[in-house]
Amino acid sequence: MAAGKDRSPCARCAEALGRSCCQPGPSERLATLTASDVSRIQAATGWRRERFVEEEPYSPEDALGYETRRPGYRGYFRGTVVRWGLRSEAGACVFLGPNGCTLDASTRPTACLLYPFEPAEHGWTLAVERSGSAELAASSGEPRCLAAEEARSRGGLLRSFAINVEDLTALIDRLRAEVTAHPEPLDSVKPRAPRTVAGGANRDRPARLRRSRLR
Ligand code: SF4
Ligand code: SF4
Repeated sequence: MAAGKDRSPCARCAEALGRSCCQPGPSERLATLTASDVSRIQAATGWRRERFVEEEPYSPEDALGYETRRPGYRGYFRGTVVRWGLRSEAGACVFLGPNGCTLDASTRPTACLLYPFEPAEHGWTLAVERSGSAELAASSGEPRCLAAEEARSRGGLLRSFAINVEDLTALIDRLRAEVTAHPEPLDSVKPRAPRTVAGGANRDRPARLRRSRLR
């Protein structure tokens, strides 16, 4: 049977909103990376770090503000004053290809695997709710997410990303462990022999951390 056209929110996002979460606006930044993300990506792609990492020095006040707004990154600036972010070129992540992310889901930054979900003080929330709500993000100039705007419930949003709360919690735990280890990589993700970048859909997730998902 011929495959139908992908009508998922992620497939329609760039056209509907003008850009996707892999295409930052002029004053926006892509995912924050940990040393574990960088090690995985280097091992899988053989790319030099400078090719996909942007370094952004933070003042102590900026670092505190960042960690306050993003509880999943608490402690990130404990050993560094520099934020590592995914590099963008010509308005898109260097890993964005014509059919979505070119990194295999097992390689992708943990923040990308999580997006549009992110850790909260307790449990999880939506990145767009840093503005208060998906509706406020839509009117405030903050990054938008078509899936979050179209979802009728949080359960429906989870289902649209084929993830359940258990898997989401496991991904959040993984992010926290990687942030705690930063700026060192976790032992389990230290670089192995380089292999070729695999093609991949924009939002496929590794199965439960083995399935183990901006930013
Ligand atoms: S996660 Fe949200 S912002 Fe990103 S491509 Fe999907 S619908 Fe768009
Ligand atoms: S999902 Fe892939 S293309 Fe999108 S920001 Fe993350 S690494 Fe880049």
